Amino acid sequence: MKSPLLRFTDKGIYCEVADVYLDPWKAVNKAIISHGHSDHSRWGHQRYITHHNNVPILKHRLGDIVVSGKNWNETFTINGVKFSLYPAGHIVGASQIRVEHQGEVWVFTGDYKIEDDGLAIPYQPVKCHTFITECTFGLPAFLWRPQSEVIDDINQWWATNKANGQTSVLFGYTLGKAQRLLKHLDTAIGKIYTHGAVENMTEVLRQIVTLPPTERITKDTKKEALKGNLVLAPPSAHGSTWIRKLVPYVTATASGWMAFRGARRRRAIDKGFVLSDHCDWPGLLSAIRATGAEKVICTHGYTDIFSKYLREQGYDARTESTQFEGEAAEVNVTQDQVETA
Ligand SMILES: [Zn+2]
Repeated sequence: MKSPLLRFTDKGIYCEVADVYLDPWKAVNKAIISHGHSDHSRWGHQRYITHHNNVPILKHRLGDIVVSGKNWNETFTINGVKFSLYPAGHIVGASQIRVEHQGEVWVFTGDYKIEDDGLAIPYQPVKCHTFITECTFGLPAFLWRPQSEVIDDINQWWATNKANGQTSVLFGYTLGKAQRLLKHLDTAIGKIYTHGAVENMTEVLRQIVTLPPTERITKDTKKEALKGNLVLAPPSAHGSTWIRKLVPYVTATASGWMAFRGARRRRAIDKGFVLSDHCDWPGLLSAIRATGAEKVICTHGYTDIFSKYLREQGYDARTESTQFEGEAAEVNVTQDQVETA
């Protein structure tokens, strides 16, 4: 029996014919990287290949690496295996990786969402025989409201806080969520300030996308200046000494996990907005249907429940263990950066 086009190894998802890994979690010779979150783009590979929009993000996070940038749908061939990148809609520069060899096509999603967030290039379904999918929110309870409604709620929250003479502190992951929020915040309400880690990453993304102006909070920033305005900060800034100087403030977080009852209270945050850069349950199912794939491999999230459901629907579905962490890792990204910010 011939070996599969992609195999799950202790280093990562491996294409033996091309001798290439997809988002490997251990150091390898050649890595194709789906996006810039820390669980997908690790340090130590000899060569990186990724979408060109992800190149500045990788360099910001990983320093001096050897990286080549590709366009969407640009085919590059390694040892006869054809690779190409398609938009994943997850964050700016996020790709699905398509792998084709001798008529057989596999697609690896990395992380993805199907709603157009107005910032990342929207997700594009890609036909394949085998679909390797994340399922961070692969439970029927996860149902996202349209982004426009959530954004309206956030802007309304900000306006109310301003009327009460308070500073609004909004937590979102440093890479992705923070810029998605920034893109849609209503600057007619007030000014947007940033935590250093958010500002640093936002500066990188300004090379790729257009975003409203922000002002970095420094030791010289006057408390009075912040009043009624909004501060974008990483989740790990909550409870830090940094945040104390923002008093009087109210906090909110924007994350898919806010759909869980108790998640907001456990984190001692005043308000939770359910806004995710991953698919909800119907999003996952429609994405899988659109690929036409018969085989589905679930990599991270509620993998066992989700793959069982898919088998009941007639798919040849299974789980493979990986070191991808979905939104949890996106919190860790900010943690790293807060310490150095
Ligand atoms: Zn991610």
